[in-house]
Amino acid sequence: MTPETLLARDRAHLWHPYAAATDPGPLWPVVAAKGVRLKLADGRELIDGMSSWWCAIHGYNHPVLNQAARDQLERMSHVMFGGLTHEPAVELAERLAAITPDGLERVFFADSGSVAVEVALKLAVQYWHSRGEARRRFLTVRGGYHGDTFGAMSVCDPVNGMHRLFQGFLPQQLFAPRPPCRFGAGCADADFAPMEELLTNHRREVAAVILEPVVQGAGGMYFYAPEYLRRLRRLCDEIGVLLIFDEIATGFGRTGRLFASEWAGVSPDILCLGKALTGGYLTLAATLVSENVARTVSEGEPGLFMHGPTFMANPLACAVADASLSLLLDHPWQARVQAIEAGLLAGLAPCRELPAVSEVRVLGAIGVVELKEPAEMERIQPALVEAGVWVRPFGRLVYLMPPYIIEEEELSFLCRAVRQVLSAP
Ligand SMILES: *Cc1c(COP(=O)(O)O)cnc(C)c1O
Repeated sequence: MTPETLLARDRAHLWHPYAAATDPGPLWPVVAAKGVRLKLADGRELIDGMSSWWCAIHGYNHPVLNQAARDQLERMSHVMFGGLTHEPAVELAERLAAITPDGLERVFFADSGSVAVEVALKLAVQYWHSRGEARRRFLTVRGGYHGDTFGAMSVCDPVNGMHRLFQGFLPQQLFAPRPPCRFGAGCADADFAPMEELLTNHRREVAAVILEPVVQGAGGMYFYAPEYLRRLRRLCDEIGVLLIFDEIATGFGRTGRLFASEWAGVSPDILCLGKALTGGYLTLAATLVSENVARTVSEGEPGLFMHGPTFMANPLACAVADASLSLLLDHPWQARVQAIEAGLLAGLAPCRELPAVSEVRVLGAIGVVELKEPAEMERIQPALVEAGVWVRPFGRLVYLMPPYIIEEEELSFLCRAVRQVLSAP
């Protein structure tokens, strides 16, 4: 089949993410991917700067992950999780409990990040129900992103998340300003005051505070001071509100720590994981909870948690996730991420001189070039492909989060392509 035929068939039937059905913009057919390269149908190879939306931390078509998938496929690809259990789920749950911040011992597997967030929100509401309180609201910060289902969407940034489209249907949550204290700086009383005031004023209604620790991802690729989280943890404990960390994007080393919560040295009561969990092979997410939350929900009325996805704890996904964790933890991933951080800093810093650029920031294996105006996708996206890289900007953000296996020359090629495309008139 020619690429043109494929594109025509795509246009006839498919819908792409965050796109119009009738005009999705340009599309590039991919026929294979290996290491850090995507192979297009026309034979070109692109260096991947996206890890397929934070997921493919080990690159594509990895022999170890392929083998883990094949081995599990020979045994069973799926069985229901109601009334049954299996080794891949048990192994993975033990491992997640061991490597995540202290106190998170209980694992609920879900099939996507958004669902893991829904589970976290439901657990928080049920926790208070078990304690005889009807708490129905969540507090978060502006600039967040937590997924596209309704509960998750209700705690996304109200402007980016287009809340006005769903007015009357979407639960109304409470929003503190985006943490003003940047990563690398401290967090003064004044920086935390709006959060403190909001939470104190609504202490009886709020079931939990939910936010992405240290790095806000799709809501603006913004890095803030870990001290903000230490203050938040203290306040939540003081007034008795649960704290949920969404580490779906930041988990598994991306920020330079295995989990971004480690920057602050605090544990949430509920933690959401997803994206890189399976190394980008299959969709799987997890909601981890403290023993206190698990017990309270389980021992109150109705005595069970009302959630159970059809593909819960899918064995194939769990087996690949376990192999992906071994790959990560058995290798010096910290050194890799540090090398990428240095490469991104060196490669993107010159963008600061460009007239279109307002800021360049790097943390771990995340490099962000913020523009003064929204990127003109019709020009920039094809130009990036012409330059030999796969980078997908959104809004005013051109960002890189390459697979950890990227080599130094490949990374400088990636940064050079971004510089070149952003400096064109
Ligand atoms: C991507 C993302 C989600 C949603 O995950 P999906 O698997 O796309 O449903 C939730 N929270 C954060 C922080 C994310 O980056």
